[in-house]
Amino acid sequence: MRYISTRGHAAPQTFCDILLGGLAPDGGLYLPESYPQISRSELDAWRKLSYADLAYEILSRFITDIPPADLKALVSKTYTAEVYRHARNGGDVTQITPLTQLEGDLYTQELSNGPTLAFKDMAMQLLGNLFEYVLDKRGESINILGATSGDTGSAAEYAMRGKHNVKVFMLSPDGKMSAFQRAQMYSLQDPNIFNIAVTGMFDDAQDIVKAVSNDAAFKAKYKIGAVNSINWARVAAQIVYYFQGYFLATQSNDEKVAFAVPSGNFGNICAGHIARQMGLPIAQLVLATNENDVLDEFFRTGIYRPRNTAETSITSSPSMDISKASNFERFIFDLVGRDPAVVSDLWAKVDKGEAFDLSATVYWKNLPNFGFISGKSTHIDRINTIRFAQGRYNVMLDTHTADGLKVALENLVAGMPMIVLETAQPAKFEETIREALGAEPVRPAEMVGIENLPQHVVVMAPDVDAIKQFIVEHV
Ligand SMILES: *Cc1c(COP(=O)(O)O)cnc(C)c1O
Repeated sequence: MRYISTRGHAAPQTFCDILLGGLAPDGGLYLPESYPQISRSELDAWRKLSYADLAYEILSRFITDIPPADLKALVSKTYTAEVYRHARNGGDVTQITPLTQLEGDLYTQELSNGPTLAFKDMAMQLLGNLFEYVLDKRGESINILGATSGDTGSAAEYAMRGKHNVKVFMLSPDGKMSAFQRAQMYSLQDPNIFNIAVTGMFDDAQDIVKAVSNDAAFKAKYKIGAVNSINWARVAAQIVYYFQGYFLATQSNDEKVAFAVPSGNFGNICAGHIARQMGLPIAQLVLATNENDVLDEFFRTGIYRPRNTAETSITSSPSMDISKASNFERFIFDLVGRDPAVVSDLWAKVDKGEAFDLSATVYWKNLPNFGFISGKSTHIDRINTIRFAQGRYNVMLDTHTADGLKVALENLVAGMPMIVLETAQPAKFEETIREALGAEPVRPAEMVGIENLPQHVVVMAPDVDAIKQFIVEHV
C-alpha cells in the first residue's frame, strides 16, 4: 500500500515513511492510493474477532511495510483490557470499545476507556508503539512538539511516556485548562515528558509550534516532529472501532447502521467515511458540531467557510472548538473524485482565509452517495441532553457526546441502529456536569485526588526563542 497526497505533487510513500512526518511536501494530506475493499466473506469472518485481532486485520491492509508478526505484536500490546480498563455503565472491558444500549436501536459506543478518558487514546496509544518500533529499527529519535488545549496533549503524553528515542515538549495555555486536565498532564514524572505552560492563550502556544516548525534548519537539527490530528496513522487506527461498533450493534452483515460523531477536526468521522468506503454497511454518518458549526454549514449548504479566531467561540464542548477542520481535505479529495487539481484550487482559497462553494457543482449532487447528515448543538442543548440521558437512561454523558446524542435524536430511522460515539468521559468536564445535574461525575478510583499530586511543569512567556532554547537544553 502506498500513500499519495491530496494535492498530487508528492512522490508516493509507504506507511512507515509518512508515519513520523506531517503534511506532504506539497502541503496536502496523505491518503492510501485506494481503499482496501472488504468482501462479504471477510466481513463474516471478522464478526467473530477480538478487538486486537480485528485491528490487526484492518491495519494490515494499510500497513504493508512492517512484517506481519511485528505488526500483530504491536497491535496486541496496544489494545488490551488493561489499557482500556475505565469502562463505565457496565461496559465489557475485554471488548475495548463496548456498546451501551440506551433504548431500542439507540446505543453509545465507549471510546473513552483509555488512560486519559478521551477517544484520542484509541489512536494515540497505537502511535506511541509504532513510533518506538520504527525509531528503534532505524536507529533514529524524535522530539515531539505540540500545543494543546486539553485532550490531545494528555493523550500524546500518556502514549509516549517511557518510550525509547521519543521526547515530548507539550505547550499548554497557563491556567486555562481545568484542574483535572492540568493534573493529568503535569503529574507525569517521566523524564521524557516536558510540560511547558505558556502565559497566554491556546493560539499563542499554537503559534509557537508553527514558528518552530517553520524553521527548517532547527526542525532538522533537533528532529522536531508532531502527532497532530492530520497524522494518517491516527485516522487509520480509528477505522477499527467503526467495524467493532457495527458488529456489536447488529446480528448479521445484511443490516445497516448509522453512527453519530461529535466532530471538530473531522478526524474521527473521516475514519468512519473510510470504513464505509471499504464496504462496511454504514447507511448514515451523522456529523454533530457545537456552536462552531463550520462543518454543519458545509453539509447543509455546500459552502466551506473557515472561521478566524475572533469568530471561534469557547464552548462547554471545548475539544470541538475549531475554526477550520484539518482533516476535511481528505474527504473533499474523495468527494471531488480524487482529483488533486480540484483540491489544490479549493485549498488555495482556504489557505488565503477564503471560503469555497460547491453548491452549484456536480460534486454537490453526488454528496448523498457519501451518506453524511449533519446538525449542531448549543450550550443549552448540551445541558438539556445531559439531563435527558441521566433522567431517561441513567447514563451520565460528557458534553461532546451530548452534542452527538442531540443530533442523533433528530435523525433516527426506525429499525436502524444508531450508534453515538462517546468521545470523552464526564469526569473531564465537571463544571458543566455540575451545571446540568447538580452532581459530581464519578472518576475512576485511581484518578481521585490527582490534583494533589506533585506537578512537573515550567511556566514560560510566549517567546519562540526562549522555547527553542529550552528544547535545545533538554533534547
Ligand atoms: C478531539 C475530540 C473531538 C473531535 O474529534 P475530531 O476527530 O477532531 O473531529 C470530539 N470530542 C472529544 C472529547 C475530543 O477530544
